[in-house]
Amino acid sequence: MYLYNSASRRKEEFVPNHPDIVKMYTCGPTVYHFAHIGNLRTYLMEDVLEKFLRYEGYNVKRVMNITDVGHLSSDGDTGEDKMLKGARREHKSVMDIARFYTDAFFDDCRKLNIKRPDVVEPATSCIDAYIRIITRLIDTGYAYRAGGNVYFDTSRLERYYIFNDYDAEDLAVGVREGVEEDTNKRSKNDFVLWFTQSKFEDQALKWDSPWGVGYPGWHIECSGISMKHLGEDLDIHCGGIDNAFPHHTNEIAQSESYLGHKWCNYWMHVLHLNSNTGKMSKSKGEFLTVSLLEERGYDPLAYRLFCLQSHYRKNLVFTWENLDNAQGTYQKLIARIAALTPGEGPVDQEVFAAQREKFRKALGNDLNTSLGVTALYDALKVSANDETKLALLADFDQVLGLSLLEKAADRREAEAKAKSAASSAGGIVVTGEGDPAIDELVLRRAQAKKARDFAQADSIREELRAMGVEVTDTKEGASWRRV
Ligand code: AMP
Ligand code: ZN
Repeated sequence: MYLYNSASRRKEEFVPNHPDIVKMYTCGPTVYHFAHIGNLRTYLMEDVLEKFLRYEGYNVKRVMNITDVGHLSSDGDTGEDKMLKGARREHKSVMDIARFYTDAFFDDCRKLNIKRPDVVEPATSCIDAYIRIITRLIDTGYAYRAGGNVYFDTSRLERYYIFNDYDAEDLAVGVREGVEEDTNKRSKNDFVLWFTQSKFEDQALKWDSPWGVGYPGWHIECSGISMKHLGEDLDIHCGGIDNAFPHHTNEIAQSESYLGHKWCNYWMHVLHLNSNTGKMSKSKGEFLTVSLLEERGYDPLAYRLFCLQSHYRKNLVFTWENLDNAQGTYQKLIARIAALTPGEGPVDQEVFAAQREKFRKALGNDLNTSLGVTALYDALKVSANDETKLALLADFDQVLGLSLLEKAADRREAEAKAKSAASSAGGIVVTGEGDPAIDELVLRRAQAKKARDFAQADSIREELRAMGVEVTDTKEGASWRRV
């Protein structure tokens, strides 16, 4: 496959270091709050990459960290630990917050069909690994102690400024963000490997180290966790675009200085989901979650489809109207699949192979997921029996993860139930969003109308309206939806 590599800034053919395994590392969430749907766009597109690699026959080992310490409010080394801020907001301990939001994150992932990585490691469980790396960096002169902290010395590197186009002055993190400068740093882009001099008396988690009691910086956790589980080389490292600098730049600096050789071959960065008022951000406190989408009646997989419809290297603007369109498209797609008849003859192998090749080409071209979605419609239109179409849809869905066949089966079952309910309801068919209590009310209204009891029918319509349900009469009976 061809993958855009942010390190070389071009599309490259993907060749893993070891033919039998692809080693993939993902920067995980900082668990001080719910993940917003922007964060989840990143994990979703990384999930597509993992699934496509597996589809192509690779063995993949994917590792993700959970940031539960050390990520300060600015991605430079200033501000408060985000976890501490979360704990204070909710009057709970840092570990309670971490546990709660880690579980919430994986619940959201499950709803979006994002596979859990093979290894998930909290930053707080690998302190030994960071201490080992930092010790060697000090011994070899890549790190220095100042004011009680340990810093990485970026001036030791010839090529520090990977992942940015700016000159050194613009990248002076402290200055750029208008936050105080750390005067212990020899140069502005040096970054903290280990804090002992915390400004915050109540820093909750601290560990003993050769440099005093303290806690690790944010960047070191990804190098430590990756090396612990994947060894000294890495095929693909992923993250959202905001992780590129300084986080990934710093990961490369410390990992390659520690190892003495190249660390990771391919860097994949997912661009941001923005609201129409700007970037979606967890630290601003107001953001959209998967639960909120569900409360508003959206299927989380409609959001997955929305993400798949555009390329991961383009910013994506979220609006409710866009999501409505995706939900409509998703439901129509499921309806078309539900109308196919399973078990209709053998799969036409020639058609199957030709369509599959088209799909592989699309995804193999830097994950062109929108063409991958088009391939679903091509499969529905192809001149072959329904069994062939279903086999193609099931095959593509291994990568797209839209639960197409499961949802279609659910729909077929619901339609069969509605039909049999209709026959026991005097031929009146009620369709809606799958709530039996509302189905019952809508049916009673339709029956009252049929019996010309309009007062009763109107009163039930009012009752439904008060519940936020709109009823439309159809030829067979009535259908309803939440408004
Ligand atoms: P965090 O939990 O803040 O460490 O972020 C988790 C992941 O979401 C990281 O890979 C970020 O780069 C990514 N991310 C943050 N904001 C957005 C956004 N608006 N759209 C897409 N990805 C994002
Ligand atoms: Zn990371």
